[in-house]
Amino acid sequence: MLARIKRFLGMEAKPKEDEKVPVEKKVPTEEKKVASEEEVEKVAEEKPKPRIGYIHLSGCTGDVMSLSENYDILAPLLTEMVDIVYGQTLVDRWDIPEMDIALIEGSVCLQDEHSLHELKEVREKAGLVVAFGSCAATGCFTRYSRGGQQAQPAHESFVPVADVVKVDLAIPGCPPSPEIIAKTVVAVINGDMDYLQPMMDLVGYTEACGCDLQLKVVNQALCIACGTCAMSCPTRAVSMTAGRPEVNSDRCVKCGVCYIQCPRSWWPMERIKKDTGL
Ligand code: SF4
Ligand code: SF4
Repeated sequence: MLARIKRFLGMEAKPKEDEKVPVEKKVPTEEKKVASEEEVEKVAEEKPKPRIGYIHLSGCTGDVMSLSENYDILAPLLTEMVDIVYGQTLVDRWDIPEMDIALIEGSVCLQDEHSLHELKEVREKAGLVVAFGSCAATGCFTRYSRGGQQAQPAHESFVPVADVVKVDLAIPGCPPSPEIIAKTVVAVINGDMDYLQPMMDLVGYTEACGCDLQLKVVNQALCIACGTCAMSCPTRAVSMTAGRPEVNSDRCVKCGVCYIQCPRSWWPMERIKKDTGL
């Protein structure tokens, strides 16, 4: 089943660096090549199922709803690929167990002691902490919070998860697409670091804004007028004017999606230098 899901997602099993067969030892015959692929699948199938927890802080549940929209593969994804060990709305359990991956949805309210305690305990008990969705990753529209509302008028300060605890991966999106959530889970199981690298880099991208397009792309002479930013904005705050993005800041909820989706935003210079020997 794991193999079927990986094929469905277009992600074949990928051996870790130390599991890769050296080029000179690869067996050229088609029969052996097939056997090798089966071995890789077998390794992936035999790995213990990762224990996943879902932590709901100051979010809208839209991110876990997006996870559930993996209609074709949801049941095997949740039952055969992973163990859901913790999570409001998912599991009837109140104590926080040890887990391999914690998906944290929502930003952190600094005046909410319960959220702070839960987050810190999860950080201690989880192998990987994932900022799941833009509220967790960048603060998103909770960046505009200023308190003064019932029933908790004192709750005014909301920050991204990475401002409070160490985060390992960020999957921004308002919400992230079902596909990218499922693919990320598969990549974690496979140890596919190439797929996960942008998400590791995005951990530091916590102060997102539509104005990043101007500052970090257009001002740097990187924009190619593709319009991806305008298509990706969930609030239609971005339009293209004379081949360049123009952001209506009154509509921007600071999710960071326009900049993340921009094909000129992620430029892994260290890896490029390494690959080209610069
Ligand atoms: S312009 Fe749109 S996509 Fe970009 S940060 Fe603002 S709301 Fe998000
Ligand atoms: S996605 Fe990036 S490159 Fe494309 S139009 Fe927007 S800013 Fe320019």
